[in-house]
Amino acid sequence: MKISAQIDLIVDRINEILHEVEDLKKQLEVLEKRNEQLSNYLQKEDKSQSVGNLIKLYEQGFHICHSSFGRMREEDCIFCLNVIDRTE
Ligand SMILES: [Zn+2]
Repeated sequence: MKISAQIDLIVDRINEILHEVEDLKKQLEVLEKRNEQLSNYLQKEDKSQSVGNLIKLYEQGFHICHSSFGRMREEDCIFCLNVIDRTE
């Protein structure tokens, strides 16, 4: 094979590789976006789960407000309700 033909083959191969690199970059971009969306989703899930736990605790008759957290409550507490309002 002539040298010029070999060079043509190498140039073709380099172009193929550059093409593949471009494709991979695009795929990576898509995956990074998806990863970010999933992370955001999981963070929200986490937050809503801990809010859910607070509400459960309140419904079981405990304070979840800052000043009386964990103490038994006799009636509705406006501070606790405020905590639930703020986190929902
Ligand atoms: Zn309270």
